[in-house]
Amino acid sequence: MNFENTRKFAQQLDSKDVLNGFRGRFYIPQHNEKDCIYFTGNSLGLQPKTAREYVNLELDDWAKFGVEGHFHAKNPWMPYHEIFPRQLAKIVGCLPQEVVVMNSLTVNLHLLMVTFYRPTRQRYKIICEARAFPSDQYAFESQVRYHGFDPADAIVEVMPREGEYTIRMEDILSTIRQYRHQTALVLFGGVNYYTGQYFDCKAITEAAHQAGAYAGFDLAHAAGNVELHLHDWNADFACWCSYKYLNSGPGGVAGIYIHEKHAVNKDLPRFAGWWGYTKETRFKMEKGFDPIPTAEGWQLSNAPILAMAAHKASLDIFEEAGMDHLHRKRKNLSAYLHYILNDINEKQPGKIIEIITPPGEEERGCQVSMLMRKRGKEVFDKLVKEGVVPDWREPDVIRVAPVPLYNSYEDVWRFGNIVDSLIS
Ligand SMILES: *Cc1c(COP(=O)(O)O)cnc(C)c1O
Repeated sequence: MNFENTRKFAQQLDSKDVLNGFRGRFYIPQHNEKDCIYFTGNSLGLQPKTAREYVNLELDDWAKFGVEGHFHAKNPWMPYHEIFPRQLAKIVGCLPQEVVVMNSLTVNLHLLMVTFYRPTRQRYKIICEARAFPSDQYAFESQVRYHGFDPADAIVEVMPREGEYTIRMEDILSTIRQYRHQTALVLFGGVNYYTGQYFDCKAITEAAHQAGAYAGFDLAHAAGNVELHLHDWNADFACWCSYKYLNSGPGGVAGIYIHEKHAVNKDLPRFAGWWGYTKETRFKMEKGFDPIPTAEGWQLSNAPILAMAAHKASLDIFEEAGMDHLHRKRKNLSAYLHYILNDINEKQPGKIIEIITPPGEEERGCQVSMLMRKRGKEVFDKLVKEGVVPDWREPDVIRVAPVPLYNSYEDVWRFGNIVDSLIS
């Protein structure tokens, strides 16, 4: 598409946007009584206006029924989590029986590593991206130590090349090949939180399997953002949080995917709890864990209904909007943002903005990471004063993520306009 850097053009794009009406379904934070330019949906998604109603329904049913709410609530709590797999299967691309909503992200990452990181003296390495999200780094490190290995030896980070910011796929694949006899697990973020690089999960999975290792993904920045086909890619497992692109509230309940071929395998080692126990006989409370032969077999505790109600409010909106529409708009919005930033840069003798997110549509999601060659923090602080909500990453990166559900093309244009005025 031929873009133009004008408000009128942005407004035309908005008027043709089939998702235009969804912005009104969210509370947009205010600045001087005007909508903020909220570009941090990659950090905490905005509140659906229906969230309160969904949560209140459960509070009311709790007041009305007490413990009987497990069976008599409008949405009975006992099977409440069973609402989600069908919806999430469309978002992460898998079969419903491969998904369960439970716990929080880092907890789930550990639980999945209990199953899928089973190092031996020969095979003990974890291959991951350099600059993985810190919580993931700590999880890898502590798992490796827990099994008696040294993180410096067992964790192999694939780095960007000298002078580059993103990691070349060929380097990921050759590293997996290089360590093919020693690798137990290949674990990547679907989308890297810092650069916004979307890795080719299919190719990574294939390479991991060829090396005789499991392939898992942390989709915190990918779920609800980029197109995913976990089942068809044959990924072994994945986990994600629900409060970023999935708009389900701070610390919201998280989700996991386990490929069907593993989910049915009751012999796979795991840490067990009563909620993972076969439903028909769970309440006999007998000795001897008998897991549900789906991803549900990894559940530990009964479900946090209030957090799940907020999750449901958001996923119902995703369902209504449709993933195809969301993917199309996401691509256009970020293409427009790239265009605008390049246009601003062209006019600048210093070209102080370097976009470190890959330019290719298949290699990124919503997020654009702007490396500021100078005055980065100053520009960031001024953006905030102007009512923009971006995100700052030391030492010099401003991350912005226009999301298709509630950001507009006009948001993108206004953002560009403010950046332009700040750096000229
Ligand atoms: C946001 C994020 C986390 C946060 O983990 P919590 O357990 O939800 O606090 C972890 N890993 C990645 C890759 C993230 O992007």
